[in-house]
Amino acid sequence: MEIFIKLIIFILGASIGSFLNVLIDRLPKDESITGRSHCDFCKEKITWYDLIPILSYFFLKGKSRCCHKKLSFQYPLVEILTGVAFVFVFFQGQNLLGSVLIMGILSCLIVVFFSDLKYHLISDWVLLAFFAFSALYKFVSNPLCHSGLSRILSSGFWSRCVPQNDVIAALIVGLPIFLIYYISHERAMGLGDVYLSAIMGLLLGWKAGFLALYIAFITGAVFGIVLLILHKKKIKSKIPFGPFLVTGTLTMLFYGDKILEIIKRMYGF
Ligand SMILES: [Zn+2]
Repeated sequence: MEIFIKLIIFILGASIGSFLNVLIDRLPKDESITGRSHCDFCKEKITWYDLIPILSYFFLKGKSRCCHKKLSFQYPLVEILTGVAFVFVFFQGQNLLGSVLIMGILSCLIVVFFSDLKYHLISDWVLLAFFAFSALYKFVSNPLCHSGLSRILSSGFWSRCVPQNDVIAALIVGLPIFLIYYISHERAMGLGDVYLSAIMGLLLGWKAGFLALYIAFITGAVFGIVLLILHKKKIKSKIPFGPFLVTGTLTMLFYGDKILEIIKRMYGF
């Protein structure tokens, strides 16, 4: 039975992943996200049986049916990743609403990762969705907020439930990235990175948020040095920072409690 549920969740995730591929490629170009899929190369309409998540790519042996051009491996990769991620989240033991919101958060992070990597652009729409999912998740996972609609109108609700701490965490985790953005005149970081890091603060809290930034800087530096050694990039060439912020966020979202506990044991805070 469990394997059956896993399969269903995986197929659902892979189908969402298929939609995320559309967002990854169309949002940075300001293209409409509705409407039929066309071939990237010859603009021929793609029939439904060539749009089945994961399977179509392998049936077509990675080539478009119409003009036999090589299809990007991004398509099956994002579909598989989203499917696996959804199964992982579903069996984390959260309630259903919490799981769905985390799946929403993961979907946004996947779009940020790939569109920033590919186009050096983080769409405002994805940031808005990331903010909405994160704020809702904070809301439903806060036990103080589960007090029914009548109490929402009562005094004291907003001070309990719209925590100033979260707003402050967003501001202070966003601050270092904002300073780099400001001082480098947008060359080192974009405004998208600033918003992304602020929402990370909201979602993770200031402690885990800073650790996520730290992980982003370390992985970014290691990656940059490796590329330099391999002569893939010159010192001046741009590496998007979004994928590293996403890496830090995912690490802290799923392993934050364990990491914070280890730090507490080692350093006492
Ligand atoms: Zn074609």
